[in-house]
Amino acid sequence: MASSDPDPMPKKKMPAMLEEGVEFPRCRCGDLCKAKTADDPFSYTKGRRFFMCANYAHDPAPQRNVYEQPPSPPPLCSYYEWIDHEQPAWAKYDIEYDHKVVWEKFHAATRREEAAEKMKRWQEEQRQKKEEKEHEEKELREAERERKRERGRDVRRKTLQM
Ligand SMILES: [Zn+2]
Repeated sequence: MASSDPDPMPKKKMPAMLEEGVEFPRCRCGDLCKAKTADDPFSYTKGRRFFMCANYAHDPAPQRNVYEQPPSPPPLCSYYEWIDHEQPAWAKYDIEYDHKVVWEKFHAATRREEAAEKMKRWQEEQRQKKEEKEHEEKELREAERERKRERGRDVRRKTLQM
């Protein structure tokens, strides 16, 4: 169970509770490790506890001025070691729940998009209906005008015949 463990070092961490009497190992710096719980969302490592170098506090390392020479080489120790090799049930449940939430959000977004699409189609239909009605009314008005002109011609014809 060395740091050659293939599971990658978690990016997100939270405090870890350890059973009484568990011995903390020493890392390559020679210091006692600290214990953490992996907390990367959706990760198969989430919920598993591990030991890590206590000097690995800055991850990533803080920005240094390039002209500022460090008094000694910075610690390159990236020691970590898994305590739990199985994911606890609560973490599996958490991940399942997170997946559900993500899917629900996705479905809700899809429903919103569908509703917006429906609204757009309805507005387009209304616009077309209005246009058709206006077109019909225009034709009716023109037909009416034509009838009046026709009547006018009839009247003139009759007047001339008299
Ligand atoms: Zn160390």
